[in-house]
Amino acid sequence: MINCIPVQQKVVILGGGESGVGAAILAKSKGYEVFLSDKGKLHKKYIEVLEKEGIAFEEEQHTTDNILDANLVIKSPGIPDTVPLIVALKKKHIPVISEIEFAAGFTNARIIAITGSNGKTTTTLLIYHLLKSAGLKVGLAGNIGDSFAWQVATQQHDFYVLEISSFQLDNIVSFHPEISVLLNITPDHLDRYGYDFQNYIDSKFKIIQNQTADDYFVYFTDSEVIKAELKKRKPQVRGVEISLTFKPAKGAHFNNGMLFADILGKTFKENFESLPLKGPHNAINAMAAISVAQLLGIDDAKISEGLKSFKNAPHRLEIIEVIDGVTYVNDSKATNVDSVFYALGSFSQPVVLIAGGVDKGNDYSQIEELVRNKVKGLIVLGKDPEKLVSYFSEIVPVIFATESIQEAVKKAGDWAVNQDIVLLSPACASFDLFKNYEDRGDQFKAAVRNLVRSNTN
Ligand code: ADP
Repeated sequence: MINCIPVQQKVVILGGGESGVGAAILAKSKGYEVFLSDKGKLHKKYIEVLEKEGIAFEEEQHTTDNILDANLVIKSPGIPDTVPLIVALKKKHIPVISEIEFAAGFTNARIIAITGSNGKTTTTLLIYHLLKSAGLKVGLAGNIGDSFAWQVATQQHDFYVLEISSFQLDNIVSFHPEISVLLNITPDHLDRYGYDFQNYIDSKFKIIQNQTADDYFVYFTDSEVIKAELKKRKPQVRGVEISLTFKPAKGAHFNNGMLFADILGKTFKENFESLPLKGPHNAINAMAAISVAQLLGIDDAKISEGLKSFKNAPHRLEIIEVIDGVTYVNDSKATNVDSVFYALGSFSQPVVLIAGGVDKGNDYSQIEELVRNKVKGLIVLGKDPEKLVSYFSEIVPVIFATESIQEAVKKAGDWAVNQDIVLLSPACASFDLFKNYEDRGDQFKAAVRNLVRSNTN
């Protein structure tokens, strides 16, 4: 166990963001000698915390001597295993783990861990909401909000709901959730996985690595990738299937606008149309959340109430305004092709699609048919529009390329008519023109609201 490393030994933290600083605070509170090192500049708020806690740190450099004498290294998920410093640590047999792994060693709380290429945040927030509104003492962490380690150091919870990325899974050793959730596996982040999809699949499957026959694994059984992998691996963990297409022996399914879950011999039923979450992907996410809630024995009425009162995080199929009968939807978080596939599948009306940005090796064939049937105009927003423009030039009636989000929104407004959807669902990362996906979504919202103002002036 990680937490058996004798006190007074040295823990080095690489990366001083939310998870790194949380890990430093937890390690310090447990009596370790702690040193935090970040190659970039640290955020002012984290410097203040580190100084207040008396934790040694450096920024804008890694002093190798001060790092290679560690007994344990906790690495930020953003640092690839291939960088020379990590290679050197591994050569010296110094364990390099993730903050999730470290923090899990210091809590007896029951852990629910959610992963997948898409839908992690939505599903994690929904599970947290269902548990919290049912009155459980629950913490929310992982890729969201305050770090897991910081919460373990400073708070008392009976449950943790953790959003876990593949980068966090890469460095787990004994991390052992009681319930794991795998929503889907579609190509993403392949640059970190040697452009080999199997490496990425292996990373996602680490979520069940330490689960036993006493634990549960909730997974989307319509995914061919997940099914094939389970056939190969034959894990001992108890499976709970969720499906959009058939009724599994144990699990949840969607039929005729209704969600059903039958996990522990008790059938739960809810009208999906009456819920705030929309689109087939959110039916999957809702089924995963209902399954977890049922496994934890939450009352059906409480699950129903929680589903109805849930409010998702922004930038995920977020309706901004309806202007002259045209609905403007911000799906800036759609940074890969699969999420655009589901976004387009969520609307029956004609769509003006705004897409583009930094392409992560995208294969657009998955959305070709949907685009042909639904998209009346494509606006390519990005510094390098060529790939999208040439792929869709024969498929979409009109295409317009721009680097200005105001111009994109204005053009979309010109093309769209009553009942149409203007959808920002980029399939790409945002870094060519924006700070991040939030900035892109916020600028989209501002441009849409500007349209409202110019229409009313
Ligand atoms: P993540 O945290 O995995 O990035 P989010 O919940 O933030 O997931 O959603 C990211 C994007 O993926 C959004 O555009 C959203 O509409 C889409 N999405 C959400 N759930 C799913 C799902 N189950 N399958 C495919 N796409 C999804």
